[in-house]
Amino acid sequence: MFIGTAHAERNRARPFIFAGLPVAFFLRFTIYQGFLTAENTTRKISVNNGTLAKFRRLPDNGKVLDLHTHSTASDGSLAPSALIQAAAKRGLSTLALTDHDTVNGLEEAEKAAAAAGIRFIPGIELQILWNEESGGEFHLLGLGITRPSPGFTAAVETLARRREERNLEIVGNINKAGISVSYEEIKALAAGSEKRGASIGRPHFASFLVQRKIVKNREQAFVRYLGKGKPFYMPKAGLEFEVAAAVIKESGGIAVLAHPMSLYVAWGRLPALIENLKERGLDGIEAWHPTAKVSSCRRLEELGGKLDLLVTAGSDFHGEVRPDRKLGITAGGKKIDASFLHEPLLKALPGIALPHSPAAIMS
Ligand SMILES: [Zn+2]
Ligand SMILES: [Zn+2]
Repeated sequence: MFIGTAHAERNRARPFIFAGLPVAFFLRFTIYQGFLTAENTTRKISVNNGTLAKFRRLPDNGKVLDLHTHSTASDGSLAPSALIQAAAKRGLSTLALTDHDTVNGLEEAEKAAAAAGIRFIPGIELQILWNEESGGEFHLLGLGITRPSPGFTAAVETLARRREERNLEIVGNINKAGISVSYEEIKALAAGSEKRGASIGRPHFASFLVQRKIVKNREQAFVRYLGKGKPFYMPKAGLEFEVAAAVIKESGGIAVLAHPMSLYVAWGRLPALIENLKERGLDGIEAWHPTAKVSSCRRLEELGGKLDLLVTAGSDFHGEVRPDRKLGITAGGKKIDASFLHEPLLKALPGIALPHSPAAIMS
């Protein structure tokens, strides 16, 4: 059922739907052929082997979307359903939930999105093994994880196991320094946080060091002990890029390089690197991310176009823990408008393109 603004939007859409009916039948649209780019776009949806089942005007004109957000399933501060409600409040038409290394929030978010009339893109953000010499980080977004494959589930489990091993190594490092701690203590700290389902990592070790009065605050914990090159530091656990990209695709999704600037690769080397990633399974790049300069985002967008990659935009919303990030807003305060929900992206995500059609969801 549709409520609130989404309901109003659908009512307004009716004249377009009726006007489009005879045209649509005449042209016998098959899947995706019915996308029109003009304003007041009427989208003709065809499912079940070409039978015209349903079509409606996309409610996206003038609306914003977001293809990169986090919930309490990882390190965000809003529960998946609360995140969807916040998105509905801001008038978003489409939202992807992309928690770090977990799909645990997707079911709750999907239900909430159906109730709120929001097009939901089930996603994930995977930590990828990356040459730490550069100091950068490699995150890979999987957008459209509509049918997680056994390989996908195994990869996510491997990642969790690697993180666990890393945590045990950090516990070892702390003990070696003469500060007695057990992993159980750190786990208890994590369980005590408001972050339901959050996986254990360096922030919890930082909290421990604050609690033991070894440092004044969490920031100091990173600067003195947990940051790169510091005594308790261990490299981040990650997945091999090819494995991650393959299991994302197996699961109905597309593999998108998140915030490419965080790789810390110089512009001179970036095109060749991204081209190489494309050859190894990359589908797109998140050209627009709030941590990048607008000029860099434009440059990345251009590069994506040149390399024939999908281009996406996100807010990387985390809720209160990062109040500077707003749903539907990316670099330079730019609204992520419907132009980012372009035809190639929808084509790449067939399970997503037909969000309100039960037939499409079931197929
Ligand atoms: Zn990231
Ligand atoms: Zn993120």
